[in-house]
Parts: sequence; structure tokens; C-alpha cells
Amino acid sequence: MKQSQLFTKTHKEAPADDIAKNAKLLVRAGFVDKLQAGVYTYLPLGLRVLKKIENIIREEMNTARGQEILMPSLQPKENWQTTGRWDTMDDLYKVSDASGRENALGPTHEEIVVPLVKQFVSSYRDLPFATYQFQNKFRMELRAKSGILRGREFIMKDMYSFHRDEEDMIAYYETMKGVYARVFERVGIGATTFLTFASGGSFAKYSHEFQTVTSAGEDTIYICDKCRVAVNNEIIEEQKHACPQCGEKNLRTETSVEVGNIFELKTRFSAPFDLTYKDEEGKDRTVVMGCYGIGLGRVFGTVVEVLGDDKGLVWPRSISPFAVHLVEIGNTDDATVHDEAQRLYDELLNKGVEVLWDDRNLRAGEKFAESDLIGIPLRIVVSSKTLSSDTFEVKDRATGEVSMLSWEELLAVCKKQ
Ligand SMILES: [Zn+2]
Repeated sequence: MKQSQLFTKTHKEAPADDIAKNAKLLVRAGFVDKLQAGVYTYLPLGLRVLKKIENIIREEMNTARGQEILMPSLQPKENWQTTGRWDTMDDLYKVSDASGRENALGPTHEEIVVPLVKQFVSSYRDLPFATYQFQNKFRMELRAKSGILRGREFIMKDMYSFHRDEEDMIAYYETMKGVYARVFERVGIGATTFLTFASGGSFAKYSHEFQTVTSAGEDTIYICDKCRVAVNNEIIEEQKHACPQCGEKNLRTETSVEVGNIFELKTRFSAPFDLTYKDEEGKDRTVVMGCYGIGLGRVFGTVVEVLGDDKGLVWPRSISPFAVHLVEIGNTDDATVHDEAQRLYDELLNKGVEVLWDDRNLRAGEKFAESDLIGIPLRIVVSSKTLSSDTFEVKDRATGEVSMLSWEELLAVCKKQ
């Protein structure tokens, strides 16, 4: 894509009313726009990142045999009354129309997915399976001060699994721990993300969160470096300040952001909707469930918090809006530089490399500062200086390292994931 055609622009100043690093950088770099507290528009560059995160999650959910669907946000009050959550969920958005009919704007989809699958499940042969979606969720957050980390409207991947019994559900739940670890590894926060023991509520001993260590975090976790797991602040008392896996007492305290969670729902939602199946003996049994969430904005914002530096955003290759930032330096009278940049742009596109080409007529310093702010992993400079050379000047955004590469070497670096 040519940068001259991008309708958005970077901002010189960070927004005054946003204190979170992720919001400051993302708004300045033109990735998101704030409509109101906790509600953001994803702009062209930001949406490319969001879609890459989504596709990584989709690939992993499909590997775990998840079947993708899309459920509505507008959800009948009756469904929420069936589970009792119409009255107990404090942060539920409730809307009524002119006729007085009430709906919830879904913060989660158990109330929709359970009656949905009830139409298709009758026998033990219909189980197990899992279904998931990417969907906008709504939550009445009173303190939406953390940029895209804590939204009032936000996109989540939520998956629900359905099983004959607890044993089968727990086996799947254990598999999902590994699937989640792979997702966070692939988006670039694997090293700082910990499987965290949290309270399971009244239905299970534990639920599990995936917490990423960052100073922007609102949670406190206690990490056992031996097991590479953590305990959430809320259950640390119950654990007598020891690792639930090995009993280690010497735990490291960190602030963190929850980027995902998994719950053993058991029959909490299947029972009120009477979601049952006939077992081998023809006896009616209640379906056992698990659920698995990842907040996409959370992941997006957390990557910015963890990897961003004083110059701006730093994208891991896997979710960068483009693989390469091609920056053309020179005055507009110099057609040879522009022609060379055009040739390189075409050739890279031809080889399947995603390129953002800064073809604008701006000063070199301005272009480099903006390129650092946008944070694409590789920068290639084309100038009158590079024209005389048969190698390409490539700068690594994360390390600042500059290398001179041949065309073959350049292609290899650009295509490396
Ligand atoms: Zn341990």
C-alpha cells in the first residue's frame, strides 16, 4: 500500500485524556481512534493487526476442532432470566425499544449458545463438540481508562465446548491450556504470559486465566518460576501464598493484564436450559460444558504495552500490519529514486511480501520518526545513496540493527515469519 493513499495520518501529540501507553501510541500512530471512553474505531493499519490476531486465534481454534459461528449481540431478556443473570450481572447493558421489549447487549453468549445447540443435541453420539465466534461484546465498565485494554465495547473470541461427562470436559480443558499458550506465543507475548490459577467460583476448584506481565496491568499475580505458572491475587490467601503445583513459597509478585481465560462451566448453563442427551442406556443426562475466552483488543493492547518503546510501536512479524516499510528518501525532482522504489515495491508485492511504501514528499527525519512510530519490523531505505549500491539497506525496528543485504537475502528476511 502507498502511504500517500492512506486516508489516516499520524498525530504529533498524544491524546490529552488518554493516560494508557497503548492508547497514546495507537492513537498517535493512526491505528485506532477514540470515539468515547472505552470505545474505539480500528483504522486501516489497526484493523490489519486485529485481523492477523483474529486469524492466528482462528487457526488454533480450528486445530482444536472448534466450529466457527456468529451469534447476535441483541439478546432477549427471557434468555437472561432463565439463567438468573438478568438481575445479578451488574455490568449488563439493557436496552428497550419503543414497544417496551427488553434486550441485553451480550457481554458473553452462554444464554444464546445453549438454547442454540439444544436443537441439535439429543444423543451421546452428538457429543463432544466445540463452537466459537469472534463477536463484539458490551460491558458497562465504570473505569474505562486503560485504552483498548478495557473497553465498553470490545471484540472477543468465545468458545463453548459440550461433553457427555466431566472427565471428557476436563480432558478437553487441559488441551485448551496448550492451545492458548500457542496463541500467545504466536502473537509475540509468549515469554511474558503465564497460566494463572484463579478462583473457580462455586462450580470448580479453579478457573484459569492467562496473565501477561506488564506495568500497565490492573491485576497482581504471584509467579512460581519453577513451574512457570502463577496465582491470581484473589486466591493467593486460599493457597497460603504457595504454588498450587509444587508448593514453592518463594513467589515473584508482578502486575499483569488478563488476556484470556478458561472455565469449567459444568452444568451451570446447560441445566437451566435443560440441555440433555440420552446416554447408551437411554437415560437422560445433562450436558457438561467448558468455555474459553480471548479478548482481541486486550491482546492487541498488551502487545503494545509489552513491546512498544520510546520511539513508538514495535510489531512482532506475525501480527504487523505490513512485513516491510519501504521508505523513499529524496527530492521529488529525482525521478530515479522514485522509479527504483516503485520497482522494488512491485517486485516485493510480486513475491507476496506485504509492503507499506512511504512515497510521500517529506523530509527524511520526519519519515524515519514516523516509520519508528508505526513500528513495522523491517525498514528498507531507497535514496540516491543506495542507488549506486547493489545491496539494500535494511533496519530492524526492534533491535535498531542495520544490515546491507543482497536481493536474495532481502527476500529471505522479508518472508521469514
Ligand atoms: Zn511451582
